[in-house]
Amino acid sequence: MTVTSDLVKRLRDRHARTVALQFPAGLKRQSVKIAQALREEGFFVIISGDPCYGACDLALDLLAYADVLVHFGHTPLLQHPDVIYEPFRVDFDPAVVEKALPLLKGRRIGLVTTVQHTHLLGEVGRRLRSLGYETVITPGEGRTPEAGQVIGCSYGSARIPGASDILFIGTGIFHPLGVQLATGMHVVALDPLTGIAEEPDARKFLSKRHALMEKARDAGQYGIIVSRKQGQNRHPLACRLASLSDRAYLVFMDEVSPDELLNLGIAAYVNTACPRLSYDDQIRFPVPVLTPAEFEILCGVRTWDDYIIDEIA
Ligand code: SF4
Repeated sequence: MTVTSDLVKRLRDRHARTVALQFPAGLKRQSVKIAQALREEGFFVIISGDPCYGACDLALDLLAYADVLVHFGHTPLLQHPDVIYEPFRVDFDPAVVEKALPLLKGRRIGLVTTVQHTHLLGEVGRRLRSLGYETVITPGEGRTPEAGQVIGCSYGSARIPGASDILFIGTGIFHPLGVQLATGMHVVALDPLTGIAEEPDARKFLSKRHALMEKARDAGQYGIIVSRKQGQNRHPLACRLASLSDRAYLVFMDEVSPDELLNLGIAAYVNTACPRLSYDDQIRFPVPVLTPAEFEILCGVRTWDDYIIDEIA
């Protein structure tokens, strides 16, 4: 990761003197290198050392000490005049798409990926078309401003009517699983760095979620978690969920940590903050942390057949 001349220009255009830097966990070790490079360009630099989960989680309080906040690793989600977003791109060879062909069921392929790879999605589409496939890449909007982009709380770009398959290009199984649960379509996940293609299987995931719901069924109280982070706050949803049970209490939190959940002593929680907390972090939590839809099922206002992945509109 390097400081681009475009970033330096944008900072100079804003007449910035002091610049605050914010990185997600995976990029944090780049912080001193980036700070040094900006210092050599004449800026005074400060670094946010707090956890950062996504573009929904801007360290805006640092603007009390800096002229501009540069948020690395993500595309814009919250608009602020003094924030610059610097997405992090990871290149790959677009020809790797041929590794996914044996798993595709049809010829009309929807293409989705995460922010690291959106810059190469068009080239992947060209490759597929040269092999006789039709491709669809949805324009960006809302929380996913780049064409074909998905994030862990929004899979709108994967809802492609008439597609035979959705081809997810990226690492990890969480996003393709999310795409499958959000769309109900046939999904192929291709890791562009290893060339391994697979079909995500939601059955194991759903049986774990079902077991958690059963564990939460007889909880004496439910804590409905409301995030104090601006881009994760779903207060109206939390209020609606709380109205479903007289055992439910709203709990406002900035950091949702195992220790804090334990300290509150509540037997089960419902998470309206970042959806990935319920899915990825459940293993760290001492008690069930349900999604909004799972709590609705528990309260009898939704059926298991209508299970949906949690997304933020
Ligand atoms: S809510 Fe979660 S998945 Fe969505 S942008 Fe924030 S950290 Fe990422």
